[in-house]
Amino acid sequence: MTQADELCTDCGICCDGTLFSSVSLDAAGLVAARAHRLPVLETATESRLELPCAALRGVLCEIYDERPECCADYACELRLQVDDGRLTLADGQEIIEATRALRAQVVDAVGASPWWVAHRSALEAERTNPSWARDNGELLAHLKTLEKLVRHHFWG
Ligand code: SF4
Ligand code: SF4
Repeated sequence: MTQADELCTDCGICCDGTLFSSVSLDAAGLVAARAHRLPVLETATESRLELPCAALRGVLCEIYDERPECCADYACELRLQVDDGRLTLADGQEIIEATRALRAQVVDAVGASPWWVAHRSALEAERTNPSWARDNGELLAHLKTLEKLVRHHFWG
């Protein structure tokens, strides 16, 4: 197992809705998703696998050997950096832990909504309601830090 593989086996952040709310499927991916009864959003022009993915068990994919190709092909910036030695495995794991801890704090504070929904509503409330922003300074700080972590380390 490579160090990048080791990083992923204790992560799952690209499957749990932290980075994306859905992922585009090609025809074969749609067949795989349907075969495993995974929730898919279908429009006239595309099919998207809904995230958090129903095949995620803890941090691992329950259908790993049969997962859609888009999943098998995906590598976030963090993985790429561990893969080519720009980042050590330990540093990558620390970033994953920090991201996970921050997301847990945000989810605790806002309920079960995906964090980006909370982020959007919080920024709108911050703009339009100064007293809400004063009362929720800690949540706003967590949301902004989480967004920075995601943008910088995972989206690249
Ligand atoms: S590709 Fe990135 S986000 Fe996905 S499991 Fe690996 S390290 Fe985590
Ligand atoms: S099918 Fe597996 S790899 Fe793809 S999003 Fe779901 S849990 Fe992740």
